[in-house]
Amino acid sequence: SIIVFGSINIDLVATAPRLPVAGETLLGEDFFKIPGGKGANQAVALARLGIPTQMVGRVGADSFGAELVSNLQAAGVQTDNIFVDETVSSGVAIITVGHTGENQIIVIPGANGRVNQEDVERLSHLLPAATALLLQLEIPIAAVVAVAKAARNANIKVILDPAPAQSNLPDELYPLVDIITPNEVEAGQLVGFVVDGEKSAAKATEILLQRGVKSAIVKLGAKGIVCATAEETFFVPAFPVHAVDTVAAGDAFNGGLAAALFTGLSLNQAVIWGAAAGALAATKLGAQTSLPDKLTFDAFLKE
Ligand code: ADP
Repeated sequence: SIIVFGSINIDLVATAPRLPVAGETLLGEDFFKIPGGKGANQAVALARLGIPTQMVGRVGADSFGAELVSNLQAAGVQTDNIFVDETVSSGVAIITVGHTGENQIIVIPGANGRVNQEDVERLSHLLPAATALLLQLEIPIAAVVAVAKAARNANIKVILDPAPAQSNLPDELYPLVDIITPNEVEAGQLVGFVVDGEKSAAKATEILLQRGVKSAIVKLGAKGIVCATAEETFFVPAFPVHAVDTVAAGDAFNGGLAAALFTGLSLNQAVIWGAAAGALAATKLGAQTSLPDKLTFDAFLKE
């Protein structure tokens, strides 16, 4: 199986004619409750593609937590190793959106912020039966580093999505990573110069390789993907699609990438699978709702 170790969140979205000012009570319009968290999104992306997937993380002992877990189960994700933390709320994002698209977001890490060594130990028992571990940066970095070490010792491939963007990753993390997959903003933060397009992305991959990752992939949205290893650097174009919402395109990419590697395909083919999953996610609204299932995915690749 593939293990995803990361965040599980619920987005509470309110829409209103405009954003309220401090102290104001404003009549809004619609309310949406949307499961998310980069970890959970990537787990759903994998499960939809038919890959046996285990989610490891934390939710709170509240109704959101129960809902988030059953949502993952419904997508086919194994949830036995999601710990219900009695001391804290589930991870929540409170999002307000005004008519012109402007927004205000408060993220409460809640249970995601409590992920720790105990979770790493629970996950370690799953490693012997696993082929890959997917990581992101929405849980404490100490847990990310510890689990990457455990995976390396067990000879399990580590795929790190360095999102949300962060400028200071611990030096010791890079050599534990098989594949790092930043987008342009994240790559720019990691390397300290603007990454915008193929040329600067290729430069960024060189630096990431020097820091010790085995492969570096920079996702350039509709512009494609740059992928580099010690042996080669190659470019894969994005699939031409009519994009309506790129939320979770990056998570879909990582799901597609890992699914291909799980299936035994080459890195080059895996990047193409990632691009296909990302493109399909961009054609639909929403985060988890936009992630493609296996039928849609296979049909798209055959076209
Ligand atoms: P993130 O969501 O992490 O910012 P990107 O926006 O680069 O990452 O999207 C991830 C991948 O999804 C891209 O590398 C690309 O393959 C695919 N993708 C995203 N947006 C589009 C688009 N408009 N058209 C085609 N493919 C896209």
